[in-house]
Amino acid sequence: MTSRRKFIQTTALTGLGISMIHTQLFAGILEQDTPYKMTPLRNNVGFFTERGGTIGWMISKDGLVVVDTQFPEQAQHLIEAIRKQSGRQIDLLINTHHHGDHTGGNIAFKGITGKLVAHENSKRNQMRVAEANNQAAAQLYPDTLFDKEWSAKVGEEVVTLKYFGPAHTDGDALVHFENSNIVHMGDLVFNRRYPYIDKTAGASIKNWIEVLEKAQKIYDKDTQFILGHADNGFGVIGTKDDIKAFQSYLSRLLDQVGADIKAGKSQDEVMKITAIKGADQWKGDGIARSLSAAYEELTAK
Ligand SMILES: [Zn+2]
Ligand SMILES: [Zn+2]
Repeated sequence: MTSRRKFIQTTALTGLGISMIHTQLFAGILEQDTPYKMTPLRNNVGFFTERGGTIGWMISKDGLVVVDTQFPEQAQHLIEAIRKQSGRQIDLLINTHHHGDHTGGNIAFKGITGKLVAHENSKRNQMRVAEANNQAAAQLYPDTLFDKEWSAKVGEEVVTLKYFGPAHTDGDALVHFENSNIVHMGDLVFNRRYPYIDKTAGASIKNWIEVLEKAQKIYDKDTQFILGHADNGFGVIGTKDDIKAFQSYLSRLLDQVGADIKAGKSQDEVMKITAIKGADQWKGDGIARSLSAAYEELTAK
């Protein structure tokens, strides 16, 4: 080996060593300095957490997809994080449903996204709530609506949205990154945390249980699920077991409140329930929202 060749090899190795150390340092600094977290899952798909419902993303050289937007400040953080990796326009923005912690940041994507897709009821709910609160000017509304199913190819990925009827609201989409086999569930799963059940937006606990049954049937063992919210100590990424656990929580909630109603208990008495039998992983604050929604649903004519 000539000394020149050896010199080049040594330099190349040294260069690589230094750049690896730099990357590690840089990653460490990023993690400490940002209020948000970007976590890759599989292929080019991952999730973003800061404040509000978990955001899903796909960042590849030939396609950018964002699912949900938290609030304007968080959406801006996500856009900055994406810009570090890609300068292309967002191909596809999706809302899983209308709640403000999932659509509040839409406005940050104005002018930099292609389609903005949601279920037709999600847009209707978003408009209704925004107008009631004088927040219409702060909204960016979906421009592409679907009823049962919607699908698009983005780069190498196929993104398919499905709707199985009312659940957390009456406009919840399940968003499947098919090749990566990752599904964004929106707020269809609250992981070991008491759910918000939005009766003002057509929620149905009974059908929610069915929606989760369908999700367990159509996706497989290998599917990774992005979940809207989780309690402390539990993750916003789950498997079918987590879907099943939450489905069981909803079933037991209906069973317990239903039995109390049958036994002649008043709504005030039902509201005194402090735990759902057989669902002891659900604890802490927030059970009242479950009880009032179940009572309302079971006594509706
Ligand atoms: Zn949410
Ligand atoms: Zn929600």
